[in-house]
Amino acid sequence: MTSEMSPTGEKPLLLTPGPLTTAHATRKAMLQDFGARDSVFIEMTRSIRERLLILAGATETHTCVPLQGSGTFAVEAMLGTLVPRVGSLVLVLVNGAYGRRMVEILSRLDRSYLVYETEETMPPIPAYIEHLLTHQKDITHVAMVHCETTTGILNPVEQISHIVARHGRIFLLDSISAFGALPLDLQTIPFTALAASAGKCLEGVPGLAFVLCKRTALQKSAGQAHAISLDLEAQWTAMEKNGQWRFTPPTHVVAALSTALKQFYTAGGQPARLARYTANCRILIEGMKALGFVPLLPAALQSPIIVTFHIHTSHNFIFEKFYNHMRLHGYVLYAGKLARTESFRVGCIGAIEPQDIACMIAKAYDVLQEMNVLPE
Ligand SMILES: *Cc1c(COP(=O)(O)O)cnc(C)c1O
Repeated sequence: MTSEMSPTGEKPLLLTPGPLTTAHATRKAMLQDFGARDSVFIEMTRSIRERLLILAGATETHTCVPLQGSGTFAVEAMLGTLVPRVGSLVLVLVNGAYGRRMVEILSRLDRSYLVYETEETMPPIPAYIEHLLTHQKDITHVAMVHCETTTGILNPVEQISHIVARHGRIFLLDSISAFGALPLDLQTIPFTALAASAGKCLEGVPGLAFVLCKRTALQKSAGQAHAISLDLEAQWTAMEKNGQWRFTPPTHVVAALSTALKQFYTAGGQPARLARYTANCRILIEGMKALGFVPLLPAALQSPIIVTFHIHTSHNFIFEKFYNHMRLHGYVLYAGKLARTESFRVGCIGAIEPQDIACMIAKAYDVLQEMNVLPE
């Protein structure tokens, strides 16, 4: 396997929705062992929780509850802890796999729900949600995905969150693929709880997720969770007592996130991260269009997180072959997940720079020529 150096780092470059390419310093932070009850580690956990809350402007009213596991663990913990078994009805907005996953979780947990599903290329319509909340008084919660990673579509979270707040309902957000990159502040997006993870736009490594949650909502949910290990209220209460994790913490992952957050702030925080991802996304779309690929989404709906492309129209194009060749050159692309269209995805997030994308495009040109997809 060839391992060329990219202008900014090492290969492979993961142009995927996660795990992502991480900075060398982030990986290096994991070369040390920490005791779970060690004061250094306790301080690290405290400081991460604080920094994540500050990032969302939510220090006054919310708390940050970290959780072992991938993003889905946090979503499942958020739904299981905050949605009562009796007397609740969750309106779930679905336009992709992650919205559907929330429905699956609620169904498994035996919580009542109502689905408002739109096409994968269509955002939910805020006016319709306004209508539903006005007429269906039994809806208690609204759950949605910020950036639906299935396509890369950016959902109208800001508008919807305000409608939900105005109607006095509880707003639960899966911001896993957006947190850290897209602007997200409690003032502009009033959320009751939000799930995110270390290994996406914060550029930590996978293995740790977290929920930013209104403290009063957590207090009310004691004993409500369906699972001991996914009980956010219990995790919070235990952590507030002595700063320690309830069960064995992913110490190396915590150390990596701490270092990743330091780099995040040094580089200019969320606005800088958004600017870099936006530049990545722009170069990606321009370059891929020049190679004959058509993006699935119109520009107005496209988030700078991940881009879905239609399969190339040339008969010589076979995605598996293209994927394998690109992989040999150190670029890991991602298969599509669409219900109806043949597609594939390329991520814009992670420790990658616009030059990396430009090099990837140049390599894709060579590979497509070898495959007789592009004329000599
Ligand atoms: C990545 C992601 C998740 C969590 O997926 P895991 O595989 O559990 O990390 C949830 N929602 C969205 C929108 C995501 O992009």
